Amino acid sequence: MYHLKKLLFPIRVFTPLFLLIFHTSYKAFSQERVKNVVVLFSFGPNLPAFEKILTGLDNTIKGSTDEPVNIMTEYLDLSRSTNDDYAKYIINMYNEKVNEFTIDLLISIGPGVNDALLQYGDSALKALNMINVDLDLPGRKSIHDLGNSNSKEIFLRFQPSQTLQHAFDLFPDRKNIFVISGVSKLDAYYTSLVRQCKTEFEPAYQFNFVSNQTLDSTIRFVRTIPPESIVFVTAYLQDAARVSFSTPEIMDLISKNSPAPVFLSITDGGFKGQGGGIGGYLFSYVKLGEEIGRVANEMMNGKPISEITVDEKSNYQYMYDWKELNRWHLTDSKAIPSGSLFYNKETSFFELYKWYLFGTLLFVVTQMMLIIYLYRTNKRQRALNKKMQVTERMHRELEHTDRLSKMSILTASLSHELFQPLAAIRFTAQAGKQFLLNDKLDANKATQLFEHILEDESRATKLIRSVKSLMKSEPMGKENVSLNALIDETLDLVRTEAERAGISIDVELETEITVVLGDKIQLQQVLMNFIRNAFTAMAESESRNKNLRIVLKVMQDEAVVSVTDSGPGLAAAVKEKLFKPFVTTKKEGFGIGLALCKSLIEKHNGKIMFENIPSGGAMFAFSLPVIRKK
Ligand code: ADP
Repeated sequence: MYHLKKLLFPIRVFTPLFLLIFHTSYKAFSQERVKNVVVLFSFGPNLPAFEKILTGLDNTIKGSTDEPVNIMTEYLDLSRSTNDDYAKYIINMYNEKVNEFTIDLLISIGPGVNDALLQYGDSALKALNMINVDLDLPGRKSIHDLGNSNSKEIFLRFQPSQTLQHAFDLFPDRKNIFVISGVSKLDAYYTSLVRQCKTEFEPAYQFNFVSNQTLDSTIRFVRTIPPESIVFVTAYLQDAARVSFSTPEIMDLISKNSPAPVFLSITDGGFKGQGGGIGGYLFSYVKLGEEIGRVANEMMNGKPISEITVDEKSNYQYMYDWKELNRWHLTDSKAIPSGSLFYNKETSFFELYKWYLFGTLLFVVTQMMLIIYLYRTNKRQRALNKKMQVTERMHRELEHTDRLSKMSILTASLSHELFQPLAAIRFTAQAGKQFLLNDKLDANKATQLFEHILEDESRATKLIRSVKSLMKSEPMGKENVSLNALIDETLDLVRTEAERAGISIDVELETEITVVLGDKIQLQQVLMNFIRNAFTAMAESESRNKNLRIVLKVMQDEAVVSVTDSGPGLAAAVKEKLFKPFVTTKKEGFGIGLALCKSLIEKHNGKIMFENIPSGGAMFAFSLPVIRKK
């Protein structure tokens, strides 16, 4: 009764769940070409071997195709139940399902599944494409007993002598061997395989088999094993008291209590990779799973059964617990081949964080490069600023020098200009003295003479003021400048020189006063340059009709001051590069006058222009924005 209840519980819980999952997944994939694979395991789901087989199977089947594959796993639990009721229930369920859904492949794994299928399976189920994976035990029911020809058998072929040999290679001086096992059928089967091959190693090696013990006495015995031995565990699923265990947990206990190194002798079913013995050259259930998967794919892809081959010997793998290797000083052993699997390997701090370290290093280096780059740019910028300051100062000095050089030329005419009022004063004073000596000086005459003297003095003072302001080295800054007054004052400075050179001057100004914003001295310097160049050009010309014409015109918001002469016009050689410094046709010229004029006018947001007059002569002009006309 108790057993029945125990059996009904999973049935009640899992059946609706199974139907739901099966149905949903079927519906979900029914639009696509979903393939259904059913895997029937002989024992319960807690066997590490089954877990590993499923891992390999899953990787190979699902990893090799884009088509959805639905893998359903069932555990018949044959070793646990006293009868086959659960297996019968599961197989009956599939007897029904096989009529409702397409099952592309049935994979049966482990001893006894074929017996159950033979006993409970309907003909449709038994006729499915089938793979059977089993130990090659005598008396077992084969897949052919099911009358199925669409099937492939994969046997678990073990090579314990190679596993033992590898352990002997790792410890070449140890000849005393202990083989420990449990008492279940599987334990006994694995142990029998070791017994069969031990003759290959005798008499050099002495084998001691330890079985039929309770776990307690097994462990007590293990503690007494001489340290210079090698211990093998075949499998330990049940002890003499019929208590069930799993091999990995027993491996853990034995290896903790054994003074000698512990190996598994057949498969990796008992190997966790951590705390369960050294490992060694073992039959790998993951590899078996991969092989089953490969055969399954070929069958589902329609390859004829006769052409499908099975490699039962390729399932071996070298695998080790790195800490155990360390414990037995075997990490550098030549017996360990490359391509081995190492579990439980501690990665060094550097290995673990190498990408973080690399990232941090890259960040620091980039930052440093950025800092160096910024530092250099900053340094270059400062040097550039300094250069600009020097250039600015040189420009100002040049401006001043140019003004002074023009002033030196002016000096001659200026002295003449000053000489005139001074001479007039002297003349008036002498005339006054004569009048006084001849008693002809009355009050009226005296007043007239004094007024003459005052007039001449004011003319001289005006002249001196203009020259003084022209000679100042510092620019005055921007102010409202009347262009009309500027032209008048400048002409005052050159009028006498013009007269002496026989140059007539025409002036045409706007009747209204035209005001611009600017530096009066600089603007006067430009105008003076134009006039002096015109004078020089005309002095060199043969023409008798020497005329200077100055025009002030306002067009829209621009005031244009032009200076036209009747000289020979601009020489073709200088025309192209007129505003470049040091371009001159004169013996004593510097060739910086017009270059300066251009930069001064541009500083005032103005433009400079020139042209040759077709009738002869040149015209130079500058335009400036007008701020107001009064
Ligand atoms: P400089 O007067 O020291 O030569 P400028 O830059 O003032 O320097 O003038 C450059 C040249 O432009 C002069 O040497 C001259 O050849 C030419 N030039 C300037 N103004 C005139 C003009 N009105 N007529 C003919 N050539 C001129």
